[in-house]
Parts: sequence; C-alpha cells; structure tokens
Amino acid sequence: MRSKPTSKLRPGLYIVATPIGNMDDITLRALDVLSSVDRIACEDTRHTRRLLERHGIEARLLPYHEHNAEHMRPAIMARLAHGETLALVSDAGTPLISDPGFKLVRKAIASGIYVTALPGPSAALMALTLSGLPSDKFMYAGFLPPKTTARRKALGELAAIDATLILFESPRRLAASLADMADTLGQRDIAVAREMTKLHEEFVRGDLAALAAHYGEISAPKGEVVIIVGPPLSSAADLSDEDIETRLVELLQTASVRDAASQLAAETGLARRDLYARAVRINGEKA
Ligand code: SAM
Repeated sequence: MRSKPTSKLRPGLYIVATPIGNMDDITLRALDVLSSVDRIACEDTRHTRRLLERHGIEARLLPYHEHNAEHMRPAIMARLAHGETLALVSDAGTPLISDPGFKLVRKAIASGIYVTALPGPSAALMALTLSGLPSDKFMYAGFLPPKTTARRKALGELAAIDATLILFESPRRLAASLADMADTLGQRDIAVAREMTKLHEEFVRGDLAALAAHYGEISAPKGEVVIIVGPPLSSAADLSDEDIETRLVELLQTASVRDAASQLAAETGLARRDLYARAVRINGEKA
C-alpha cells in the first residue's frame, strides 16, 4: 500500500492526468495527490479503481461522467466549498481534453476555489510529437462529426487553417474520415497513431491520398487512433496558375462549380469569386 505523503494538501480541485495505455505512465506527484485527496471524481469507477490498485492506492471515488455531470456538479461544488480536497481524473489522459471537467473547472474558478493541474499523458500531444509533422503551430480539433455531410462541412472549415491538425477518431470511421479529408483538404502529409503506449503501438505516416486508399482497402484497425494532418502544403502565394487549374479540374470531377470554388477558396485563401469564374470556364470547356 502506498503511504500517504506527510504534508497536507491545500483544499481545492486537482486535475490529474492518468495513463493512456501503459499504467506506469503516471507521475510521482499524481500518485501522491491521488493517495491524499478526500475523494477522486472519475468517469468509470471500475476503470480508475484498477489504476489505483496497481499503484497501491485506496481512495473514495465519485462517478463524474457526461451522463451525470449536471446532477453531480452541485454536490462536488458543495464539497469543495466545505474545504475538501478533490481530484478529477478521466478514463485516460488529461481530463477536459474531449473528456468531462470543463464546466466543473469553470465553476470552481468562478467560485474562488483553488484549482490546479498535475500534467501528464495526453493522446493528442503524444501523437503530435511522434507524427514527424510540424509541431510549431497546431490545432486540436477533437472528434469530427460522425455523419459524412457534417464531417465534410467541418473539414471545409478546417481546410484553410495554416497549422497541423490533431483529430481523434473511432477506428470504425477512420477510412471514411480519411476519404473525406482527401477530398476536402487537398494534398497533405498525415500520420495515424494507434494504440500508443500499448503493446500494439503503431504509427503509419504518409501522403493523405495514399493513406486514405490504404485504410479504404483494409478492415477497420483495432484499438484507439489519433489522426495528425500536416498543414496545407502550399499557400496561395506558392500556387502557380497551372496548380490552381489542376486542383479545380480535380475538384470538379466530384463537386459542383459552386462547391469546387468554395473548397479551393478554403484550401488556399484565394477569392471564391475568381475561382468560381475559372470553374465555370473549365466546366464550359468540358461540355
Ligand atoms: N483526454 C484524453 C487524452 O488526453 O488523451 C482523450 C480522451 S478521448 C475521449 C479518447 C480518444 O483519445 C480516443 O478515441 C483516441 O482518439 C484517443 N486516444 C486515447 N488513448 C489513445 C491511445 N493510447 N492511442 C491512440 N489514441 C488514443
């Protein structure tokens, strides 16, 4: 059994990152805090209990997940207001990152409660650091919508962002999402990170079109995945007239004149009106 640290914790809320696979990926300070707090709020008590047992920690757990958060938050706030120490963990990685906690942290801050975080694993950052893609400027975009129309719309909005994109995805939707990305994001380098820190950890890196074709041909991979999409390979300034023409012809194979122009405007930042005029001309030449 892990002994409790001798120094007393300051009352408040402790946001604690936990492993994303390998149960030993947890900091010494996180273990000290988890063994000292009055209670640990967690998504799945059985899952968190297994982690705590592995590290010899006995603790009182409170379920706090997306289905009971509205109901549990006032009770947790009341405990904090009475001077308790409370840790918040999620099933994996850093709480609040596509996991519960944001509203609780906001409420605690607004109520003048001491809030601190114990940093640690995050699937988003681990995937970024091993992707081999630019890490100086990135955007974490969470999960894409599950349905194609909404997903393509979301991707259209992300297309013009001049930064590496980090996306969580279910392995069942990986092939469909990559196909939509290949259609909407243009030429990019990407990486698919799977089962990080676990036995079958795998990184597949390459060109977006090639990886979309690859995952379209195989059955859905097992486990958990993160997709890292490199920034647009060309900016409007680097594009020649010929590049623009080629991409428009490509887009017009599947999209209407209006959609092709909007798509390329999102990808490049070029004026939609000019692209529309070009697309009309190309379509006229084809007819
Ligand atoms: N808060 C967590 C974090 O900071 O890593 C993320 C929680 S989110 C609900 C779960 C998603 O994270 C999964 O669907 C997957 O996209 C990604 N993920 C979590 N662990 C992973 C792992 N070991 N390997 C690959 N992706 C992982």
